[in-house]
Amino acid sequence: MNPFAYTRVTEVAEAVEAISSDPSARFVAGGTNLLDLMKERVEQPGRLVDITHLPLGQIEVTAGGGLRLGALATNTDVAYHTLVERQYPLLSKAILAGASAQLRNMASVGGNLLQRTRCMYFYDRAAPCNKRLPGTGCSAIDGLNRAHAILGTSEHCIATHPSDMCVALAALDAVVLVTGPGGERSIPFGDLHRLPGHTPEIDTTLRRDELILAVELPPDGFVEHHAYLKIRERVSYAFALVAVAVVLRIEAGSIAEARIALGGVAHKPWRDRQVEALLHGRRATRESFRAAAEMMLHHARGFGHNDFKIELAKRATVRALTQAAGAGMAA
Ligand SMILES: Cc1cc2nc3c(=O)[nH]c(=O)nc-3n(C[C@H](O)[C@H](O)[C@H](O)COP(=O)(O)OP(=O)(O)OC[C@H]3O[C@@H](n4cnc5c(N)ncnc54)[C@H](O)[C@@H]3O)c2cc1C
Ligand code: SF4
Repeated sequence: MNPFAYTRVTEVAEAVEAISSDPSARFVAGGTNLLDLMKERVEQPGRLVDITHLPLGQIEVTAGGGLRLGALATNTDVAYHTLVERQYPLLSKAILAGASAQLRNMASVGGNLLQRTRCMYFYDRAAPCNKRLPGTGCSAIDGLNRAHAILGTSEHCIATHPSDMCVALAALDAVVLVTGPGGERSIPFGDLHRLPGHTPEIDTTLRRDELILAVELPPDGFVEHHAYLKIRERVSYAFALVAVAVVLRIEAGSIAEARIALGGVAHKPWRDRQVEALLHGRRATRESFRAAAEMMLHHARGFGHNDFKIELAKRATVRALTQAAGAGMAA
């Protein structure tokens, strides 16, 4: 038994106070990740601060015409919300490609962003793991690394971020609104998750005592040209080997704007602005898409079991771009 205290909060200020005043405290929302980690003793908080009664479950239109997803809106609420289905179908598709209906009913927006890696050595307390216990080594680099990263890795960690929703949010240029003892701030989605570097134990740029309030989506949901492609070992209930979220703006057969985010290949949803710039102004053809995919994976590195992911990611990128372009493909 691992004893821990439990506090339920009903106001945001109370939540921030509860987390700031106890360094061993952790927020819990749906609990679908944190409670598993506690059962495996990977995480051992001294106190759980239950935030499920905070008024953060709303999904509402912003003054600028975008959409604000409250941190406690469930993955199901978001995926099936009329405005999300109509204006941000990429997000809806990405969420529904993840987990199971039961898990999505419990999982929250905030918890999905902060879910931890599924690297099996991270869960296995008998194995060295720099993310779980800094300085002990990385069992995956010379171990079973079929599911591991090929981009942005370090000699200390090659874990991937497992979320599907985050890959879509990266492509949509979402913004994360947070609050803490220092007040509120906004984090562009691409700056939320970190690469492992020398400190793989730190997943994000969020401070320990900060609470995610909401995620804001800009008005353009790229309804006409988008695609979410998830390649996995089996059709349901599996994390991505490679996922690709693509949004395109096509004008008269040429690409006016392109955004590509890869999942399952790095410690964070992977975007490369140079690749997106390369596509700008080019015809929406298979050749353009293959050139982008080659450039996207140019610096990829496999670790043995996951070498196949490099070519897989290239092909998935071409396929997702082709699907997104649809009838907009140039002859
Ligand atoms: C079997 C299984 C299969 C899965 N498959 C997929 C999949 O295919 N794709 C996918 O994307 N996901 C998948 N998931 C992961 C699932 O989506 C996450 O577990 C879920 O989104 C986490 O949300 P939660 O509310 O339950 O978080 P919790 O477990 O409650 O919390 C997770 C972390 O977030 C922190 N946290 C939560 N809310 C906040 C907040 N508002 N502010 C600050 N910190 C906060 C907690 O302190 C904790 O550290 C799977 C999970 C399981 C168990
Ligand atoms: S890849 Fe990262 S999480 Fe996995 S064993 Fe290595 S250090 Fe740990």
